[in-house]
Amino acid sequence: MADVNPFESLQEQVDDAAAFLDVDDDIVERLQHPERVLELNLSVTMDNGTLKRFKAFRSQFNGDRGPYKGGIRYHPGVTRDEVKALSGWMAYKCAIVDIPYGGGKGGIVVDPSEHSADELERLTRSFAAELRPLIGPDRDIPAPDVNTGQREMNWFKDTYETLERTTAPGVITGKAISSGGSAGRVEATGRSVMLSAREVFDYLDRSIEGATVAVQGFGNAGSVAAKLIDDLGATVVAVSDSSGAIYDSEGLDPRDVKSYKSETSSVTGYNSAETLTNEGLLTLDIDLLVPAALENAIDREIATSVRADVIVEAANGPLTPGADDVLADSDVLVVPDILANAGGVTVSYFEWVQNRQRFPWTESRVIDELESVITDAFDELVTTFDAFDVPNLRTAAYVVASRRIIESYREGGNWP
Ligand code: NAD
Repeated sequence: MADVNPFESLQEQVDDAAAFLDVDDDIVERLQHPERVLELNLSVTMDNGTLKRFKAFRSQFNGDRGPYKGGIRYHPGVTRDEVKALSGWMAYKCAIVDIPYGGGKGGIVVDPSEHSADELERLTRSFAAELRPLIGPDRDIPAPDVNTGQREMNWFKDTYETLERTTAPGVITGKAISSGGSAGRVEATGRSVMLSAREVFDYLDRSIEGATVAVQGFGNAGSVAAKLIDDLGATVVAVSDSSGAIYDSEGLDPRDVKSYKSETSSVTGYNSAETLTNEGLLTLDIDLLVPAALENAIDREIATSVRADVIVEAANGPLTPGADDVLADSDVLVVPDILANAGGVTVSYFEWVQNRQRFPWTESRVIDELESVITDAFDELVTTFDAFDVPNLRTAAYVVASRRIIESYREGGNWP
């Protein structure tokens, strides 16, 4: 994985878009920095009675368009700059799909596989208690990200509600349905990846049916994307996770691989599939590549060997700016993360709306509303791409999103 600072990547992406906007440098600078970052040292009691310190962050990037919104990541590689970058990407993501949120992100430096469920519960509750003054359904609304899911969201909500002596399901999204979650939330990110893939093939006048596909990262986003893209008639020939990659030229059954992974915790060793290196998967000669693991998966060097025609980014920040340059030069069309994986935050928004109204939607309503949000955003994206002389869809996406954020900022003005 390339050693590129994701926060610098974000700043470069904003700069690239600003060149196509009528905007002064002082505003661009504002669009490149989080409004605030909280850094914490959480002391948590381990099962053996000792205390362990965990570094944690919450970055609130921009609140011009609404409450800060963004997930909470548990990973040993979490850094302050990574969280800042992820919070910025959230702000632009919410703007491109035009939902009334700003951007935020949180993270704890922890390897969850080294801790018991009880330890993770105490860690999550400690984080929620420390964040309490900064968050709330109208302030900042966390959600799941890498290595967090419904379980952590439920603990988080319960901690907030207990301390606030209220019920406030809208303080966090991605909850279990019985705790106020939304139908369709678990599949939402993978669904927007599938919709983006469908739309971009349509834009290129190509059929996705029969297209060959590889997915790097077979977690929540990647496994659902693989399943739904397979449902469109494409052939998923390779998938990977942190244990390695598997390949079958005849096609893998994503549902079956998912069951295998649930039993064995990894995709490797699946049936008679061949094994591949991570880089081998990224450079397969295929129609569609879906990076769905972590940031910086494809750097300038790997990009020179990428043979896919189209990349749809399920992960946040999987391509470095250097990779973007190489891929634009070689006419590989990249649907950027801020649109392709926006299904997660869009259905989180639906969850929040349902929580506020105390009125749950059916899954088919969620799926229909999500489809119209993503297809409308995609149409706007390609209209901007075709109208401006921008190098790639990412810059077009930042042009659309920055314009919206700048407009709200200008309307509200500065204070004091
Ligand atoms: P996850 O933890 O469920 O899955 C991540 C997967 O990536 C795991 O299978 C892991 O084994 C694999 N992985 C890690 N390093 C790898 C490597 N070097 N090579 C191959 N595979 C590797 O996490 P997730 O929620 O699916 O998130 C994945 C990405 O999608 C992240 O960038 C996240 O920010 C982004 N995302 C997730 C959501 C969501 O709703 N879950 C929403 C938007 C964006």
